[in-house]
Amino acid sequence: RAKGSLSEHICYYEPGMDESARMRRQLANDLRQAVARGEMTMLYQPQRSLKTNDVSGYEALIRWRHPRLGVVSPADFIPIAEENGEIMRLGEWVLRTACQEAARWPRPDRIAVNLSAVQLLQPELPDIVMRILLETGLSPSRLELEITETAIISDKVRALHSLRRIKALGVLVAMDDFGTGYSSLDTLHSFPFDKIKIDKSFLLESDRSEQARAIIRAVLALGRSLAIPVLAEGVETQTQLDLLVREGCDEAQGYYFGRPAQAPSAIAPPSTSAAA
Ligand code: C2E
Ligand code: MG
Ligand code: MG
Ligand code: MG
Repeated sequence: RAKGSLSEHICYYEPGMDESARMRRQLANDLRQAVARGEMTMLYQPQRSLKTNDVSGYEALIRWRHPRLGVVSPADFIPIAEENGEIMRLGEWVLRTACQEAARWPRPDRIAVNLSAVQLLQPELPDIVMRILLETGLSPSRLELEITETAIISDKVRALHSLRRIKALGVLVAMDDFGTGYSSLDTLHSFPFDKIKIDKSFLLESDRSEQARAIIRAVLALGRSLAIPVLAEGVETQTQLDLLVREGCDEAQGYYFGRPAQAPSAIAPPSTSAAA
């Protein structure tokens, strides 16, 4: 919503403004100082190869420790940052911090970083990525950027142009939350993604729903025929892991393998075999 727009005006002055609107407004203001005040941190969640049972990489997930509200979820504040423009600075901070930290890890594991739709449409994004790689010394092949379909659909030509320049740097590109947007097949057809991440909702439903299991199988078949590895998000149980292994899924990520944590060394992977 544009600054000074009618709706913002109404939102600001309405005396009966509800709690959630008040909260959004508060967060939008506080976001501007959050990085400078050291309130943001990155956590890392392991991704597991189901072929070798090794850690294949980590996804960087931002956390905001608000001085009064406690931990605020990125699902709540990223949309606000996108709306008020803070996402540019915040997104660059995320990228730099994740690359800096990963460059110091004991093992050269891959690091997956989420990009917002707004960042993807920023013409300078490929230059920013290149600059951060040079600054931090992280090898481009260790960096993977996660993008949602929705991000691409909003301006396909610009998004794909940016993605091609980023891929030309040697950086990997993953499609995140696959199956929740629309026009998925068209997007896959238009750009050589290095990975498909099946949205966690399908795995969470898979225990109860044959439909969800059928969709997981279909996405795995799609990945195989396009020769794109598939990672399943949201693995919480052995039953879900068994399903993925049985159906030939390449990689998985979820609480079963480890919650997002401060540093890779702080994450203790379970010793059970994926094929159990
Ligand atoms: P996402 O990229 O799809 O990230 C996966 C989310 O699933 C994360 O939530 C993660 O903590 C959660 N998750 C992982 N394993 C499990 C599991 O087994 N079960 C369940 N129920 N959830 C699991 P989180 O960290 O709250 O992030 C939510 C979303 O916020 C992310 O979805 C991503 O879209 C966005 N986000 C997070 N960090 C960043 C960031 O640094 N930059 C941008 N632009 N977006 C971010
Ligand atoms: Mg992600
Ligand atoms: Mg996801
Ligand atoms: Mg998501």
